[in-house]
Amino acid sequence: MVRFAVMASLAFQAGAAPPAPSYADWQAALADAVRDPAELCRLLGLAPSVAVAAEGGAGSFPLLVPRTYLGRIRPGNPEDPLLVQVLPQAAELAEVPGYRTDPLGEAGATCRPGLLWKYRGRSLMVTTPRCAVHCRFCFRRHFPYHASPQVPAEWEPAFERIAAEQSIHEIILSGGDPLALPDEQLAQLARRLAEIPHLRRLRLHTRLPVMIPQRVTDPLVAWIRGTRLSPVMVIHVNHPAEIDQPVAAALGRLVEAGIPVLNQAVLLRGVNDRVEVLAELCEHLVDLRVMPYYLHQLDRVTGTAHFEVPEATGVKLIEQLRARLPGYAVPRYVRETPGGAGKDVLA
Ligand code: SF4
Repeated sequence: MVRFAVMASLAFQAGAAPPAPSYADWQAALADAVRDPAELCRLLGLAPSVAVAAEGGAGSFPLLVPRTYLGRIRPGNPEDPLLVQVLPQAAELAEVPGYRTDPLGEAGATCRPGLLWKYRGRSLMVTTPRCAVHCRFCFRRHFPYHASPQVPAEWEPAFERIAAEQSIHEIILSGGDPLALPDEQLAQLARRLAEIPHLRRLRLHTRLPVMIPQRVTDPLVAWIRGTRLSPVMVIHVNHPAEIDQPVAAALGRLVEAGIPVLNQAVLLRGVNDRVEVLAELCEHLVDLRVMPYYLHQLDRVTGTAHFEVPEATGVKLIEQLRARLPGYAVPRYVRETPGGAGKDVLA
């Protein structure tokens, strides 16, 4: 840690981003994440006033960002598009009409502890409250994680519900971030799900391979490949600068292992609300054999209004993307509404 701080301060003198530290494993990187706004600002050469604003804005959703991400942020720029995704702001405290703690009505969609059933054919398990990062725009930033199973044995009611519903063919492991769980626990979960005959697919929604690329380990790839369920991994990248060489290598390992990898992004003001940024992101993903899947309209969750981009702007951006890129490289622009039968496709 000390070594990293010294190296980081030398990097500032050279005007470069702080170098990513090396860790023994992904759990060590997860445990060593930055939690203190003052430390983050110090590492990134930002004014102490930025840290003060961040401390005030964080509320009950504190700063959390792994050091493996910091090297991708340009120092000294409080408007860096990667930084604004993770740095709390005073604007998060604003009460804005139309913004709620549960904008997607997930409390009403919870059919067993930790099991959400929103759409026909698939259900979602909230496997853990933990993430590698606290994204300031997260639609689950107020989610009551304490009501979900805390230990594997508490999942039995959910398994029984899934087993009783023949129409469910796919389970989405979500959270938090499911890859924050150890591989043995995930493998056990996958084995239990694979015992349910009508399940066919297992989807993983995760940001960990992007935040801490070391998370893509041999045991992870082994249990995903080993399950009889067809796997799909959906990662979350919003800006092309999030993909550095270690992230590209981690995604390459997944793809080489035959695991389909898709990306979902959220349209965010000041992050990716320009066609140049989105085009570069989509092309980079396709080059890595990751398919751009969804561009989400921001879910109106309390504390995130400053990130919202008007839908008309989003539609225009997609039209501009279509004029620049092949059709398969353009994500669907979608909005989720509580109680809907599926996502609304906006463009
Ligand atoms: S990684 Fe996903 S669940 Fe975790 S804070 Fe970010 S958006 Fe939310």
